Amino acid sequence: MTASRHAYRAAIIHMLDDPASSAEQDSYEYFQDGLLVVSDGKIVQLGEAEQILRTLPADVPITHYPNHLLTAGFVDTHIHYPQTEMIASYGEQLLDWLNNYTFPTEQAFADADHAKRVATLFLDELMRNGTTTALVFGTVHPESVDAFFTVAQQRKLRMICGKVMMDRNAPDYLTDTPEQSYTQSKQLIEKWHHKDRLAYAVTPRFAPTSTPAQLDQAARLLSEYEGLYLHTHLAENKQECAWVSELFPTSESYLDVYKQHNLLGKRSVFAHGIHLNDTDCCQLRDSESAIAFCPTSNLFLGSGLFNLPMMEQHDVAVGLGTDVGAGTSFSMLQTLNEAYKVMQLQDAKLSPLKSLYLATLGGARALHIDDKVGNLTSGSEADFIVLDLNATPLISARMANASAIEEQLFVLMMLGDDRAIEATYVSGDLAWRKPSA
Ligand SMILES: [Zn+2]
Repeated sequence: MTASRHAYRAAIIHMLDDPASSAEQDSYEYFQDGLLVVSDGKIVQLGEAEQILRTLPADVPITHYPNHLLTAGFVDTHIHYPQTEMIASYGEQLLDWLNNYTFPTEQAFADADHAKRVATLFLDELMRNGTTTALVFGTVHPESVDAFFTVAQQRKLRMICGKVMMDRNAPDYLTDTPEQSYTQSKQLIEKWHHKDRLAYAVTPRFAPTSTPAQLDQAARLLSEYEGLYLHTHLAENKQECAWVSELFPTSESYLDVYKQHNLLGKRSVFAHGIHLNDTDCCQLRDSESAIAFCPTSNLFLGSGLFNLPMMEQHDVAVGLGTDVGAGTSFSMLQTLNEAYKVMQLQDAKLSPLKSLYLATLGGARALHIDDKVGNLTSGSEADFIVLDLNATPLISARMANASAIEEQLFVLMMLGDDRAIEATYVSGDLAWRKPSA
């Protein structure tokens, strides 16, 4: 049976390992004239077009993308869908930004219709930007998570989301109780966790908005179900860090608050982690927890510069996050642009291959789904994107002087955004294609 097979011909690159921890030439595969063969939503073959075409049955349809670069779909390891319509809110750092903009915006997600409308807009935006998997914050309302998973399931997406747990230091209209947050999360887990390509994340917003009793309920949920995620924020802003040490005087550090409440582990993802010490890094590594590096957000809120080299030294898993709405772009290309500058300000380099790794396989590894997505190896789920090497007149002009694949990638990351995404495929189906000019 060849009827369900479909092949895609283009320049193709994907990552096999972290270029910082293996020999760079072994960390990726690149085919200048490549062919990707997909069947029943899975990747079944990848290689040089000429070689595969020798044995590929003639009835397998081929979609050709000349002057394009095909790669794995992007993995965004930290983003808030309810904040889609408050992106670009002026003037504040973290704590005032939450009080003045975020909390009033999140109030509206008690309404299921509103939640569904924004979830649809949000997932449209992810597709337009080539992001096929994300670890996503809902709001405190179970309706927000129901709406998100409903739309994601219809679109056959691999997505992770959870209801915010928040029982103090927030307006009454956005708080739950330890018991309520446990019960509501449990109901959502029963309904959505491991249904099709969906998974649930237990989501206390951050230490300041949860009592110790609520953090214990989060740990209880994690112990009761297989494969749940823990998704929260960590050491983003200095004022926030000082507040945490006041609220939890017996903890040795911000991370130690989560550790004392048994929230570290495989599939625990902490956004930001800007203000950490060596002990924290060792605990992150030893527990197999991961950090989501969110450069546009860290710069926008003036939070600080993420120390990626320190994470590499300690072998801490790191993914890339847009952190919309504190992040200023849904585009992982633009996010890598800012990541590069964050490294430059610390006299460090972020290579194009390491960048592609962070946006694809590195994120999948941080989420422990690298056996399913993150690259284009045979057997992987067919989530992939096609990048346009002539997306804008400037990119086109610059590409004329870029022959090496690393240089082409770098140009896309510095100059590219949603306009550079020609097409996004999910489970082997076309999910979005750029309108022809
Ligand atoms: Zn966030």
